[in-house]
Amino acid sequence: MPTTSNHPQSSTDALAALGALPSAAVTSTALTERYASALLGVFGTPQRVLVRGSGCHVWDADGRQYLDLLGGIAVNTLGHAHPLLTSVISSQLATLGHVSNFFTSPAQISLAERLLEISAAPGGSKVFFTNSGTEANEAALKLARRNAGTADKPRTKVIALENAFHGRSLGALSLTWKKAYREPFEPLPGNVEWVPAGDIEALRAAVDESVQAVFIEPIQGEAGVRELDVDYLRAARAITHQAGALLIFDEVQTGMGRTGQYFASAPVLPDVMTLAKGLGGGFPIGAMLTFGHRTSDLLNPGDHGTTFGGNPVATAAALATIHVIDKEQLLSHVAETGQWLREELSAITGISQVRGRGLLIAFDLDKPIAAQVVSAGLDAGFIINTTGPATIRLAPPLVITRDQLTTFIDKLPALIGQGLLTHKEN
Ligand SMILES: *Cc1c(COP(=O)(O)O)cnc(C)c1O
Repeated sequence: MPTTSNHPQSSTDALAALGALPSAAVTSTALTERYASALLGVFGTPQRVLVRGSGCHVWDADGRQYLDLLGGIAVNTLGHAHPLLTSVISSQLATLGHVSNFFTSPAQISLAERLLEISAAPGGSKVFFTNSGTEANEAALKLARRNAGTADKPRTKVIALENAFHGRSLGALSLTWKKAYREPFEPLPGNVEWVPAGDIEALRAAVDESVQAVFIEPIQGEAGVRELDVDYLRAARAITHQAGALLIFDEVQTGMGRTGQYFASAPVLPDVMTLAKGLGGGFPIGAMLTFGHRTSDLLNPGDHGTTFGGNPVATAAALATIHVIDKEQLLSHVAETGQWLREELSAITGISQVRGRGLLIAFDLDKPIAAQVVSAGLDAGFIINTTGPATIRLAPPLVITRDQLTTFIDKLPALIGQGLLTHKEN
């Protein structure tokens, strides 16, 4: 069991009294039943009830330990309950928790400056804070609408890539490729066209002076970690520049060190970049970065807003996360560990392809047994995730060690074997 010394007894008592901690008498089964009767069914049945985390491990309501190789879907940058992150969040909350955006706070200003610094932003660049990835893309989509062209030459279209995922709110959804996500909710805003990912000529043909913006994930995460090479990103930069369209990189999943650099698209500089997942190390926060004066000037007072976005606690959490990434030199750790992990995975029988960069990794299995392997993994104490019938995704905390990953690599052949068995039985 992990140490509880950093949790004062009184505060865990308070959590228990509020029903936020399990008591010995409450089983996972009972909690899952309560979930099913109280929570909207959009996520299906939760795989486990988790009650505690520390470093790269989490524990469920029955006391079982798991190595977290998903990191809350590329969110828990520093693992769980990182001491600096938790202390910064509590101190900021105890000092100043929320103010409206009629006011600002030092944390908000410092984070905006820090983000512009690590993104090598040119003069005139600005930041807008949100609470999530989809909201960051909504802001980007509104900004794109302001790249409206002229009365006789209006810009009316947005280009996105096949297999893109940009979020679930209506604007971001209108950019998302999967018909099953989109069609039940039509009509959606936007006049969106999709082009095949990675095809420079298709992009060139689609982007003319009627285009407001092009949205690109430098690595398509939900599509199964499909990387767009730097030549494609450079070509996209040149093509959009020529046509006067905005180039928008969605780095919600790939940003903040996940790939071994702060941003997967570097050194290509877009006009707009959106961030979220890993930014707050687990605390909800998103951001839209607008590069240069021309882009930043597209949204003016009154054009957009948010109640919670950029609040002192969330921005302090992100400052702490960036501080630890720098201080513990996590970028090089992620690059090296990821490279090593991909080599280890490639040597395992039953795996046909390994993709990704840094610690955003997917591998394809020879057979469509990903769901069975995830379930065998859970039973063996590993949290992993599928992005398709034969594809497993890993996005562990950036602080994960080779020793921890080795426990998974050692077990993986058996998990694949079990997956094959259950697949055949059904
Ligand atoms: C997760 C994700 C989003 C949506 O972020 P939410 O915080 O879930 O709204 C958008 N774009 C990409 C690339 C993502 O991976």
